[in-house]
This record gives sequence, C-alpha cells and structure tokens, in this order.
Amino acid sequence: MSPRTQGHHFVSSDSYSGRHRAPGRHRAPRRGPRIAKSGYLLPGAAAAALVVTATGATVAESAPAYFDLTGTAAKARAHDAASAKFNRVETDQQREVQVTAARARVLEAARIARSAERSAVVKKRAAAAALKKAEADRKAREKWVMPINGAVFTSGYGWRWGRLHAGDDFGTPVGTPLEAMSTGTVTFAGWQGGYGNKIEIEYWDGTVSVFGHLSQIETTVGDKVAPGDLVGLSGNTGHSTGPHLHLEIHPDGGSAVDPAPWLHDHGLQ
Ligand SMILES: [Zn+2]
Repeated sequence: MSPRTQGHHFVSSDSYSGRHRAPGRHRAPRRGPRIAKSGYLLPGAAAAALVVTATGATVAESAPAYFDLTGTAAKARAHDAASAKFNRVETDQQREVQVTAARARVLEAARIARSAERSAVVKKRAAAAALKKAEADRKAREKWVMPINGAVFTSGYGWRWGRLHAGDDFGTPVGTPLEAMSTGTVTFAGWQGGYGNKIEIEYWDGTVSVFGHLSQIETTVGDKVAPGDLVGLSGNTGHSTGPHLHLEIHPDGGSAVDPAPWLHDHGLQ
C-alpha cells in the first residue's frame, strides 16, 4: 500500500464518513460544549457569567436562564406571567363583580325606597279618595229633599178654630208622587182618623215626618228609605177639604214644629 493510497483511504474515510460510516462508529472527538439529547447546555463560562449577573433574580428564575436552551423555562416564565396576569384579571373581575353587586344593592335599596314612597303616596291618595267618597256618601245619605215637587203652599202651621194645625198643607193634584225626605225607616204606614192614609218616617237624625191624606201608600213599616224614594201618592183622604199633602215635622220624634223655618234651615224652600 502506498502512503497515497493509504492517505487516500484515510482521507476518503474521513471525508465521507458522514455518508458511509456505520451508526456509532467514527465519531468525531468531543470538542467544546457537548450537546446533550435533552438540549441542555452544560455549564460553560458564558452560563457561569449568567449565574453571576443574575444576582437580583430568584433561584427559580435564574435556574431556567442558566439551563434553558429549548425555551422550556421561557415557556414556563411566559406561563407564570400569563398566570399572574390571569390572576390579576381574575382579581379585577372579582372586584368588578363586587362593585357591581354593591352598586346593584344601592340601586335596589333606592328602588325599594322609591317604591315605598310611591306606595305611601298611593295609599295617602287612596285614603284621601276614600275619605272624600265617605264624605260624599255621608252627604248623599244625610241630604234632605222636599216630599213633593211643584206643590203650592196653601195653609201653615198654627192655631185655627181653637185647634193647632200641626203642619203645612201643600195643594197638589191627587196621585202626585210623595218622596222620603232623607235616609230613614218607615215607622207607620196606614189609616189613622183625620189623617186618612198616613205615613211616618224616622230619619237618621231622629226627625220624624208625617204625610197625611194620601190616596195611595207605597211602603210598609220597617222599610229603609233614601232621600227621594217614592213612598206614596198624594190624595184627599181623612178630614180634608181638597187634594193636598199635610206635612208635619217632629224633631227627635217629639212635638210638631212649624215646618217652614225647619225646611228653610235644611236648605228646602
Ligand atoms: Zn194640614
């Protein structure tokens, strides 16, 4: 073998070792930092310098910087940062939720207060309306009306021929409607001597009215009446000289009084 051949062989095997060598053979001598399969860099001068300069950092932070070549530690840091950010965001969200809840509570309290206020106003108005209605009802119930309409006053209360004429006479055609003068109860309905057909009504204030000489009685004892209710028809029965209504007023059910001033005092006539 010539050196050339040998050399050729040597050069050949060396130059083409990348192509032809069998696995695990003809490895190049180790020079400088070895690359491990794991991808970690073994400590060298530069890495040592990194450790020295990383004095301000924690071990956990410096360790990946020291070893990391593949970005695993960087990924971990990124993850930590993202996690911290996530935690911040979560805290922000929690705070926002708390603030929103607090605001909602305040608004709800205000809403309840307003609602109560409105409710109070509504109740006050309802109470006022009820009072007004009650007052209107009372006025309607205690209202006084004339027992007869369109009648002509013909004879007043007073002594006549030695006898007391205890009421007023109103001339009116037979069959004229006669009305209850206010709210009350019928206490008499029937024939009685000179009165002919007679009706007595006791009203809410104790006053008793007497209607005489009726042609027709349209109510019975015990009937509840309201102002203006029809109770009978005028006539000419009993001691009567012509068709008329004989009206008596007995305050508190006592003696008859002159109807004229009483009617005037009650807004009638
Ligand atoms: Zn009379």
